[in-house]
Amino acid sequence: MGALTLLDPAYEGVRQAAHDAAKKLAAIAIEADNSSGLHPEVYSILRGSGLWELVVPAAYGGRNESVDPVAICIVREILMGVCSAADSLFALQGIGSFAITMAGTDAQRREWLPKVASGEVLAALALSEPLAGSDLKNVSTRAQLADGRITLNGHKSFISNAGVAGYYIVLAQEGDVGLSAFLVPADTPGLTTEPSPELGAPHLLGDVHLVDVTLPESARIGAPGEGLKPVLATLAVFRASVAAAAVGLAQVALEEATRHARSREQFGRPLIRLGPVAGLLADAWVDVESARLLTYRAAELARTDPLAHLEYSSMAKLAATEACTRVVDRCVQVCGRWGLIKDSRLERCQRQARPMRIYEGASEVLRLGIARQLAHEVS
Ligand SMILES: Cc1cc2nc3c(=O)[nH]c(=O)nc-3n(C[C@H](O)[C@H](O)[C@H](O)COP(=O)(O)OP(=O)(O)OC[C@H]3O[C@@H](n4cnc5c(N)ncnc54)[C@H](O)[C@@H]3O)c2cc1C
Repeated sequence: MGALTLLDPAYEGVRQAAHDAAKKLAAIAIEADNSSGLHPEVYSILRGSGLWELVVPAAYGGRNESVDPVAICIVREILMGVCSAADSLFALQGIGSFAITMAGTDAQRREWLPKVASGEVLAALALSEPLAGSDLKNVSTRAQLADGRITLNGHKSFISNAGVAGYYIVLAQEGDVGLSAFLVPADTPGLTTEPSPELGAPHLLGDVHLVDVTLPESARIGAPGEGLKPVLATLAVFRASVAAAAVGLAQVALEEATRHARSREQFGRPLIRLGPVAGLLADAWVDVESARLLTYRAAELARTDPLAHLEYSSMAKLAATEACTRVVDRCVQVCGRWGLIKDSRLERCQRQARPMRIYEGASEVLRLGIARQLAHEVS
């Protein structure tokens, strides 16, 4: 199938590096995807691949002058097709550092971004709390400024990379000024982590407790009360990349089901020549290709000005993650009982597709934002 044939040949090097990493990951993917800890080989393959240089600007140890969402999408599409643990570990270096790239001070960038690019330090973005998920304005972690020091108190939950991250970007309510973002090194006294509940599709997740965590004012990212801006910029780039991961997962499911339907015969013919089965596969292919087109359109737009095109990233994430669920479900149907075997490629696809419709903007919430923007745009 002609995956990614529309892309500029300038990305050939990135694609090749991602395929090389994917080849090494294939042998350990089932084990890594069934673990909710940091898989040492996945970490070492990603470090060795140099792919994390893509999530940081060149001035701070990265590859390109500015972070290129298209390159990130290419990598995620390829990695997610093989190993979900590797895909999320790759993406989180960007998700947990883009706020610093966008709104951090030069000192913060110089201290942390080169370590993110090399993989020496793992990054995390801590927004969600037990009572605040989609509704981030309801965050109850408090930041208090006194005598030039900031004190944080709160509980962040379901935070990817918690427990292994070298720092956390924390969103907190700061007095009356609103939500502010802070860079909290993991070894700051008062910060502790514990594992979050295990998911059906295991993921490196933890809860972060902040008890009288005291930081210099220089730990703030952006202006007081403006913490949501770098978070939204992060989502504008990385929602498109979740879409790319969903496309990668849907693509492998489609390939798996097509091979099966070509080789298995029932009623004297290959399944793929039985009308309803052919229809399931044809619809799945249309879904994959449509989702891919919107994903790379959103990534292109995010390259120039992420915040100005947040709705395209949201559309891509909505379309691709919903399509991925439909595609994987059809592919399981095509394969009959063979699609249900635990840890088979399709069964893993089914488990891994589901959370993508919830994190980084649940589908229903994305629809609200997209409709709001539509109301603005139409005169
Ligand atoms: C694998 C995984 C990794 C994660 N990693 C991180 C991380 O690194 N950092 C982090 O901060 N968080 C992380 N999260 C948390 C994630 O961001 C939240 O799960 C997500 O924001 C949704 O919040 P919630 O689960 O509390 O659902 P809720 O907000 O309670 O929503 C529940 C349902 O209600 C719907 N809903 C909510 N509000 C509305 C509305 N106004 N109108 C219509 N429908 C609505 C939602 O669409 C959803 O279907 C992770 C979650 C998972 C599963």
